Amino acid sequence: MRLILLGAPGAGKGTVAKRLTAIDGSVQISTGDILRAAVKEGTELGKEAKAFMDAGDLVPDELIMGIMKERLQEDDCQAGFLLDGFPRTIPQAEQLKSLLADLGIELDAAVNLDVPREVILDRLTTRRTCVDCGAIYNIKWAPSKVEGVCDKCGGKVVQRDDETEEAISNRLDVYNEKTAPLAGFYETEGVLMTVQATSTDDVVAAIRERTGV
Ligand code: ADP
Ligand code: ZN
Repeated sequence: MRLILLGAPGAGKGTVAKRLTAIDGSVQISTGDILRAAVKEGTELGKEAKAFMDAGDLVPDELIMGIMKERLQEDDCQAGFLLDGFPRTIPQAEQLKSLLADLGIELDAAVNLDVPREVILDRLTTRRTCVDCGAIYNIKWAPSKVEGVCDKCGGKVVQRDDETEEAISNRLDVYNEKTAPLAGFYETEGVLMTVQATSTDDVVAAIRERTGV
């Protein structure tokens, strides 16, 4: 399947993407993961992106489009892809549209995961992430067995720099201003699907029904 996952930070895009890739072998492409890896490795891209990310602001469109133009042409995308965290602005969506047209690729759907703001705030402030493998924990609902240590790889489990209350509140404002309008964009394109994202199972089932996977 070829999907865009839309939804506020903490709406569960990554969790849904991981479940779907296990079903049909399509790849999850998370611009957030790509950027965090670049920051960790200290590449040019990482250096340019870090300050924006820590503040909860968006990285400039040109940087993101450069990454995605290459990424979408890699071989593993032939089996399908789930875009998680991209596009995030109308200019990104417009440039993606022409890129996909050039590559002769059609989208199945842009899935908007709709979650109430209180739920999001609660999820994000309690979320913890493994710095090595990216595994996600939640100190309230799904803690690691040993506090601060990843069950899967033994790496350090921490609160992301952009998951302080202040950065989270900024990320949600940025989302409402820059990313929420994408629902209208994809509605006009005729591919929008909105799901009330309370349970991952329900979201996955709704997407499978729509795409027939
Ligand atoms: P979230 O939990 O907010 O969905 P992500 O892991 O997707 O977080 O992204 C983390 C940060 O990386 C964002 O706050 C932003 O700074 C940057 N980022 C990720 N994807 C994009 C994008 N498509 N455009 C601009 N910035 C992005
Ligand atoms: Zn880990």
